[in-house]
Amino acid sequence: MTKLYIVVPCYNEEEVLRETARRLREKILALIEVEKISADSKIVFVNDGSKDLTWKIICELHAADKIFGGINLSRNRGHQNALLAGLMTVKDFADAVISMDADLQDDINAVDKMIDKYIEGYDIVYGVRSKRATDTFFKRFTAESFYKLIKILGADVVNNHADYRLMSKRALNGLAEFEEVNLFLRGLVPMIGYPSTIVYYERAERFAGESKYPLKKMLAFAFEGITSLTIEPIRLITRLGFTISLLSLLVLLWIFYRYFTGGVVAGWSSTLASLWFLGGLVLLSIGIVGEYIGKIYLETKRRPRFIISEFLNG
Ligand code: UDP
Ligand code: MG
Repeated sequence: MTKLYIVVPCYNEEEVLRETARRLREKILALIEVEKISADSKIVFVNDGSKDLTWKIICELHAADKIFGGINLSRNRGHQNALLAGLMTVKDFADAVISMDADLQDDINAVDKMIDKYIEGYDIVYGVRSKRATDTFFKRFTAESFYKLIKILGADVVNNHADYRLMSKRALNGLAEFEEVNLFLRGLVPMIGYPSTIVYYERAERFAGESKYPLKKMLAFAFEGITSLTIEPIRLITRLGFTISLLSLLVLLWIFYRYFTGGVVAGWSSTLASLWFLGGLVLLSIGIVGEYIGKIYLETKRRPRFIISEFLNG
């Protein structure tokens, strides 16, 4: 029978954690009851350096019932790193692992469908939002634009899929082979391969508390996704540079023509305009190239992606 682990990254989630734990426990017990998963299945919370009582609550839950496990990170490393810490820590104990957020936005009833798909033989089951009715127009618009943009740039991501997914042990072992530090898991997981499928669910409102992903973090995350999945922006610069060089040759011909036909006019405004334009272009190009060099720099350091200070497990 499948030994299932559910991994939940938590950052300052004291308001929702108990309720999330209660509902997940019910779900696990029900699945054990119908013999879909084995009796030693578990729920593991990853505390991502919370400043509130999150870790204390996790310890209490673990003390009261060994169905709950906990991983305490040494400091806040962000959602993706916390999730990876959880997945990499439990993969040796479980046959399949489901990751989900702590705020009950992901419908936990999709877990049943995910397990069914896993039993059918799929290694990766993506949870996909069927609609975004509860998101604000702004969030919906930015998210959809992001998916479009990243597809145009040539990266392979599953539309409207966040980090609610099931992965088999062998898929997780595949993920472990990816050593990059700039983590964008929803872009990496499709690269693992193995049979995969999709289950749909409706995304609810956050149960309590507020989003730990303000606009600034969201934009940084989108940028991270693009720059860690594709080098298309660099190619864009190359193409642009090539085109402009060709154009400048034509301009040169034109200037020669004007010179020899005696019609030289001091074009102060056009000179200045092109100076500014090219200056801007060069700066932008250098900036983007620098962004990638920055990534190379970070990757070569091979810093640990997380450090675990405690692991409560049975
Ligand atoms: N989270 C985390 N570390 C962080 C920020 C968020 O582990 O630095 C967790 C958070 O506790 C939640 C999940 O990541 O379980 C998603 O965050 P949130 O629900 O705030 O994002 P949103 O749903 O608003 O995009
Ligand atoms: Mg949320």
